[in-house]
Amino acid sequence: MSKTAIITGATAGIGEATAIEFAKLGYNLILTGRRKERLQKLQSELESKYRTSVSVHAFDIQVKAEVENFCRHEIGDKTIDILVNNAGLASGLSPLHEGDVDDWEKMIDTNVKGLLYITREIAPRMVAQQSGHIINVGSIAGIEVYPNGNVYCATKHAVHAISEGLRRELYDKGIRVTNIAPGLVETEFSIVRFHGDEKRASNVYDGMEALTANDIADCIAFAATRPKHVNIAEMLVLPTNQGSATQVKRKSQP
Ligand code: NAP
Repeated sequence: MSKTAIITGATAGIGEATAIEFAKLGYNLILTGRRKERLQKLQSELESKYRTSVSVHAFDIQVKAEVENFCRHEIGDKTIDILVNNAGLASGLSPLHEGDVDDWEKMIDTNVKGLLYITREIAPRMVAQQSGHIINVGSIAGIEVYPNGNVYCATKHAVHAISEGLRRELYDKGIRVTNIAPGLVETEFSIVRFHGDEKRASNVYDGMEALTANDIADCIAFAATRPKHVNIAEMLVLPTNQGSATQVKRKSQP
């Protein structure tokens, strides 16, 4: 029987690429994000191309009541084999003493609280099943802190800690927990971070070969398709020309 995966943040970037990868593997998909038209377009593409079952649910993961409604009333009582906690964002890049509190709240509410809300709903189902896989999309920012990344780094450190905590609590219940920590991936991420400033966003990837969303989807699929007794607990995935959060080799550099 086909497995079922929930992927949050499937309207763009890593989440969308993961949905395509999982559709190729024959998973039934439950896809979420706020932009309904994008979800519907992806649903019809995946259903026609891969003949898999796809349901889409547009809601804001920052809003606890919307997450609860999705989990308790929209997805029914089917077995959830995989939860990919991918929805997330960076908003702003400035020293903390000049930071925008609205940016901070958006990042904390999405990357930490949203991830917790949905995990709190889905993990008990996995415990009851004594099986499942929670795959959290963290970041190199959850391992290293870089200047001006302060609150984003804090949220991804939280994702790292939550992944570690979950693993220590679920290892004896047949549930796998994976933290995927990408470096620079060229998606809409930087456009969102710079509040729609596409020029500034493209500078982030200037003169270097960033990862693509497909590269990370490939890693997520790898973790998901290991034999049941193998848990890929942690994956740090960087572009070859990125040495750390702050070291990037660009073509213009000697
Ligand atoms: P992206 O292209 O901007 O995609 C972000 C996704 O998250 C979108 O589908 C977006 O959907 C969803 N999302 C954001 N806020 C949401 C909310 N309040 N409610 C529901 N969904 C929400 O960026 P990406 O690079 O694929 O990012 C995916 C994950 O990878 C994030 O957790 C990010 O922190 C992490 N990451 C990215 C990079 C990178 O360099 N790109 C590096 C390390 C880690 P809607 O806007 O339609 O709601």
